[in-house]
Amino acid sequence: KTKRIAIYGKGGIGKSTIVSNIAGAYSEDKKVLVIGCDPKADTTRTLYGSRLPTILNIIKEKRNAGRKDVIFSGFNQVMCTESGGPEPGVGCAGRGVIVAMSLLERLNVFEEDLDVVIYDVLGDVVCGGFAVPLREDYADEVYIVTSGEYMALYAANNISRGIKKLKSRLGGIICNCKGLDNEEEVVSRFARKIGTKVIGVIPRNQLVQKSEYDAKTVMEKFPDSDMAEMYRELSRAIYKNSDFILPTPLEDEEFEEFFQKL
Ligand code: ADP
Ligand code: SF4
Ligand code: MG
Repeated sequence: KTKRIAIYGKGGIGKSTIVSNIAGAYSEDKKVLVIGCDPKADTTRTLYGSRLPTILNIIKEKRNAGRKDVIFSGFNQVMCTESGGPEPGVGCAGRGVIVAMSLLERLNVFEEDLDVVIYDVLGDVVCGGFAVPLREDYADEVYIVTSGEYMALYAANNISRGIKKLKSRLGGIICNCKGLDNEEEVVSRFARKIGTKVIGVIPRNQLVQKSEYDAKTVMEKFPDSDMAEMYRELSRAIYKNSDFILPTPLEDEEFEEFFQKL
């Protein structure tokens, strides 16, 4: 059975970095498909080596686009695609994700022998649009990326509201450290508050930028580093995870109190 994962979190928190690196880790012995669902369309840049054209742009030019027009082979044959978004100021980004997903379905991409499918999704606005991968049952399990920062946790709490509403399954929180004091402790307390656990901790590390400048993942550029090993560990923890919950998001006052009591 294909493991179908959605990664949510605030913009800039490190989702794409985590998605591309764990995809790189899975690619060592698995067939992986990465679907960027963020209008920024940069999830797969470090896997492919440059920015991919997006499905929404491709189908504007070519109405009968086929599999080879929209699926690109990246590092270690990771299959890469980007839904893309509307032009700034027009149209609905969530609608774009629906269009992209229906095309992939029509092209039978999901019928292929895939071990893991990973969706990289925004979480600043938890509107119906961004809930598409969950609402339409494209993904079975969700992980939220956060640091210990207030706004990152705020987004994480909002996302957990969305997950609850959609009766989806939360597999855990990924702590992508910003380097705050007690950060792991803060994030793990938050995780417990909403009924889940921290499934992995990724430290802040310059190797991420060094790889990113070169349009590569850490997995490709520094495969023997400790950082690469941490992404491998996270990928394994997610792969073998079988503990899913319906989150218990905090009310606004509870959320404020959480910080007062730290
Ligand atoms: P998102 O996809 O959530 O918007 P990105 O993955 O694009 O976020 O990350 C935003 C920036 O943070 C990137 O420039 C990336 O280099 C940096 N970054 C992410 N994770 C780490 C980390 N563990 N250590 C250092 N820098 C990181
Ligand atoms: Fe954007 Fe969501 Fe509104 Fe669509 S529904 S335009 S994705 S905020
Ligand atoms: Mg991103």
